[in-house]
Amino acid sequence: MAILKKNKLGLTSKILIGMGAGIALGLVLRIAFPESDIVNDYITEGFLHVIGTIFISSLKMLVVPLVFISLVCGTCSLSEPSKLGRLGGKTLAFYLFTTAIALVVAIVSAVLIHPGNASLATEKMEYIAKEAPSLSSVLINIVPTNPMQALSEGNMLQIIIFAVIFGFAIAHIGERGKRVAALFEDLNEVIMRVVTLIMQLAPYGVFALMAKLALTLGLGTFESVVKYFFVVLGVLLVHAFIVYPTLLKLFSGLNPLIFIRKMRDVQLFAFSTASSNATLPITIEASEHRLGVDNKIAAFTLPLGATINMDGTAIMQGVATVFIAQVFGIELSLTDYAAVVVTATLASIGTAGVPGVGLIMLAMVLNQVGLPVEGIALIIGVDRLLDMVRTAVNVTGDCVATVIIAKSEGEFNEAVFNNTQAGKISANFDGS
Ligand code: ASP
Repeated sequence: MAILKKNKLGLTSKILIGMGAGIALGLVLRIAFPESDIVNDYITEGFLHVIGTIFISSLKMLVVPLVFISLVCGTCSLSEPSKLGRLGGKTLAFYLFTTAIALVVAIVSAVLIHPGNASLATEKMEYIAKEAPSLSSVLINIVPTNPMQALSEGNMLQIIIFAVIFGFAIAHIGERGKRVAALFEDLNEVIMRVVTLIMQLAPYGVFALMAKLALTLGLGTFESVVKYFFVVLGVLLVHAFIVYPTLLKLFSGLNPLIFIRKMRDVQLFAFSTASSNATLPITIEASEHRLGVDNKIAAFTLPLGATINMDGTAIMQGVATVFIAQVFGIELSLTDYAAVVVTATLASIGTAGVPGVGLIMLAMVLNQVGLPVEGIALIIGVDRLLDMVRTAVNVTGDCVATVIIAKSEGEFNEAVFNNTQAGKISANFDGS
């Protein structure tokens, strides 16, 4: 039995195998049976669609209860208002700071590399922009009129606000509050156990998602926007593997290599689902059990991060804006660039952590600086792939901030962080 356990593949390896096998199957079917209705109806839209969707649904199923329960737990354990205020302030400041760095690097790279070629603008372009919400409605909608509706619709920002107020009240009603807090802590344990269970399904879910992607991804516009694609990809990689590790070292003194290694599962989930929200259960699990962040902090910073901190999305929006201006031969002034930084920061805050929303919010940035929204038609073909990578960057940013903040608050277990085996899912699951 012990030998069997030893030889067992880790979850990350299984997910990687699922991913590789899925892509291989998709490509083989695509080449062997091009445009086959049978493959399309029974495999792509049949089997693969069902398995992939069940996997994503089972992750999403946990998000609302997890965010609500864990945020209530987090807030009621930070009973002093000053601590809550300090944590909230630090978290927001750090999230904004990293998004601003992301945007500056993105814009400077796009200006220097100049991916946009004016000849692209002559291609037939059609993009009907879905209406991006106005800034005032984004602000007003932060406060729920009906928390039950917010929970049933999965409106994250509203759930966050309600949970924080609820948790705060629990902390301030003495003995009775303690009983309610204990109940929420137990519920939190239950839900984290469900996360561990569902993670076991990941290799199969990822297999189906990747196979479907390989079967359906249209690369028609890929050639013409190859340069744009690689500029976004390059900046995303720089942000994930240079900017974040440097910030981690600078602000916390921790070893960035350990952090990068421990983020692999979370990034794979984010990459396969293209949704920060769907990845949230895994992000919380990894931050607490693999990175050593106390639940008080993770429960507060991560749901907030999955909702408002989208550095990867901001990078795409920064490069895309400059690219579209270049394609249409529109010169941007320094003030325009500053406007791009401000609006793209707000747009990334307003972007929901679900697939593809970053592109919709790009319309808001383009409108703000007076660029043609049809330009989005050019980049839509490669957006799905970029969405997957930027989501992985988005969740990495949430975790970097969480570790740094936890360390600065003294709510961090460095021994867990340094232990390469800590919180490994298969060990954890079989062992207890
Ligand atoms: N898919 C991204 C996320 O969930 C959001 C986006 O950029 O579309 O983080």
